[in-house]
Amino acid sequence: MNSEPTIFSRIINREIPADIVFEDDKVLAFRDIHPAAPVHILIIPKEPIDQISHMKAENAPLLGHMVWVATQVAEKESLNNGYRLVMNNGNEGGQSVYHIHLHLLGGRQMAWPPG
Ligand code: AMP
Repeated sequence: MNSEPTIFSRIINREIPADIVFEDDKVLAFRDIHPAAPVHILIIPKEPIDQISHMKAENAPLLGHMVWVATQVAEKESLNNGYRLVMNNGNEGGQSVYHIHLHLLGGRQMAWPPG
């Protein structure tokens, strides 16, 4: 499902600045403005899907590509001891920006369960 333009569409369109660490024709990765870990990068699709529960079967390769990009960015960021990939979905999932994004968090010991 396509969404209303969000702040992430404005980052894709270079209307507002971001610290971009990776880009290809399908995805963009940039540093989170309020990092929750020493490394906190968001991987987003250029196609605006509002939340992961609205993805379609045809979006599965795009989601797989986002995970692949996350692994490559993690390697570039030297997260050799591990990291966490997170997607928050909807209100109770803690989602605040309705353009899907994969959080890459690393550089410290993660706790479980998350809050
Ligand atoms: P979520 O709560 O899962 O929807 O995550 C949204 C994330 O986007 C949060 O971690 C915010 O800190 C981050 N964020 C919001 N605006 C910006 C921005 N302009 N540049 C970078 N990160 C942002």
